Amino acid sequence: MAILILILTHWYASLFFQSFFHHRYAAHRLFTMSRAWEKVFYVCCFVTQGSSYISANSYGIMHRLHHAHTDKDEDPHSPKNNDGFWALMLQTRNNYNAIYKGKTFVEEKYKKDLPEWAAFDKIAHNWITRVLWMALYTALYIYFATAWWQFLFLPFTIALGTVQGAAVNWWAHRFGYENYKMDNTSKNILPIDFIFWGEAYHNNHHKHPSAASNAVRWFEFDSAYAVMRVMHALRIIRIKEMLQRPVAIVKARRKRQTA
Ligand SMILES: [Zn+2]
Ligand SMILES: [Zn+2]
Repeated sequence: MAILILILTHWYASLFFQSFFHHRYAAHRLFTMSRAWEKVFYVCCFVTQGSSYISANSYGIMHRLHHAHTDKDEDPHSPKNNDGFWALMLQTRNNYNAIYKGKTFVEEKYKKDLPEWAAFDKIAHNWITRVLWMALYTALYIYFATAWWQFLFLPFTIALGTVQGAAVNWWAHRFGYENYKMDNTSKNILPIDFIFWGEAYHNNHHKHPSAASNAVRWFEFDSAYAVMRVMHALRIIRIKEMLQRPVAIVKARRKRQTA
């Protein structure tokens, strides 16, 4: 039971900061924050993502390339260009590493307005730091596990951030429903997203990449956006275009169509 709580807490904490900081803040600039808060969230990402920590800067570049070239050859992670989940995870990791190490030529337009704290990334990215995290996870498993088979989840814990990124990018371009017909394979994974902090509404997100909330239809609920609204009220972040929610856009379009 303790191990299950550990895994679930880790899952939601790690994915929240990937969605909030890496995806919505770094890649899409859906809100602004002070330099001081930026640093606080860098640390939050490090604490929650641990051994699978990735740079928000390099992630931002990779993700912008995904939006610009979805399902094409230049897409850094396309289910169309490789077979299966593990192949996609490997492709994503290789492309990410090439961007992080500066081995990929990236046009200036993809590098604009990205958060940068290279000194911090360097420490968090270091293999010694990653090994220390693995040692901590192993110690926690030894302390909390009540059966041997629970250790089978240890590799999952170590690679969690990578698995989560690949899960969304693979699943959301393979299975699910579509609110919008698009010239790419993006889907909404779950009608009620209780696993991915609103990232499951990937078809909505590809249609409205600059909308702060990914929810469009009445039953869809973007939990990360709900947290963002609280942070906005507390003046931690400033959501740029709160009124430009896709739901308003869709409603307006339906009205036009029925008129
Ligand atoms: Zn996508
Ligand atoms: Zn995106």
